[in-house]
Amino acid sequence: MERGVNVPQSYRLVRRDARAERTIVRLSSGATFGGDEIAICAGPCGVESAEQLDQAAAAVAAAGANVLRGGAYKPRSSPYSFQGLGEEGLKMLRDSGDRYGLGVVTEVLDPRDVEKVTRYADMLQIGTRNMQNFPLLREVGATRVPVLLKRGLSATVQEWLLAAEYVMLGGNENVVLCERGVRSFDPATRNLLDIAVVPLLEGMTHLPVIVDPSHAMGIARLVPPTAVASIAAGAHGLLIEVHPDPANALSDGAQSLDCEQFALLMLRLALVAEVAGRRLPQRVKPAAVAPNGQRKADGAVRSSKSGVKLA
Ligand code: PEP
Ligand code: MN
Repeated sequence: MERGVNVPQSYRLVRRDARAERTIVRLSSGATFGGDEIAICAGPCGVESAEQLDQAAAAVAAAGANVLRGGAYKPRSSPYSFQGLGEEGLKMLRDSGDRYGLGVVTEVLDPRDVEKVTRYADMLQIGTRNMQNFPLLREVGATRVPVLLKRGLSATVQEWLLAAEYVMLGGNENVVLCERGVRSFDPATRNLLDIAVVPLLEGMTHLPVIVDPSHAMGIARLVPPTAVASIAAGAHGLLIEVHPDPANALSDGAQSLDCEQFALLMLRLALVAEVAGRRLPQRVKPAAVAPNGQRKADGAVRSSKSGVKLA
């Protein structure tokens, strides 16, 4: 156990020294979280239609992502906002995931839906608002399907690890932690991204940790630099919202990258992953990329002189 890092005995299962090796979580699609390969989960905030999802899935797969994200059950602050397509959305996720060879991660809001969601998804997302929904944690803990456990809106690291402990106590050892920003005093960004929690957790738990810069920032322009910083800090993966037409998204359009912006980000991530001793799921040829992340004169990505901004 790392010296100076306070890990109470109450973390029996998640604590770093409960295991000789770090946990690697593997989806049935083959994607892994926790090893040398970074997991890139990308896709729209919400599944809006088969066409919208399919366009996003095609684009993120072509850019090198290995997991498709998208909400079929949306936890919206207002009951009048788009709530998701439910089981129809789950079917669309499965179809597009299979078409492009992507794993599927999607949020489950209600313990009564867990069994249904496991029929379509490779990974169950517990959203920030449900991090301490203990019946839901127990329900996903009773499955053996990998769980993506987002940090609560203002959860301490201790509360977050104890939520993971609930899942593991049910026998489900396939837990990935996801930092997605916490509430702060300052509304300048949607949340405050705690990048330091990545190396902090590395000393506290054997579980993999990924970062969701989209919900942390709330502003698309800020997603690429914070995604790059997260990988540099040692994150085992990223969760990134990508929409074919962010301006017309039914949820979280302001923080969604369009397909070209995501492809550009992947080029940058390939470089920083290498520096961090990791690799992307599908390698983008580094030879085609200049150190600033712009692709060299092959025409696919224009230089900044042509007005394409990278961050
Ligand atoms: C999401 O991933 O779309 C989502 C609702 O995330 P969070 O729970 O982090 O707000
Ligand atoms: Mn969202």
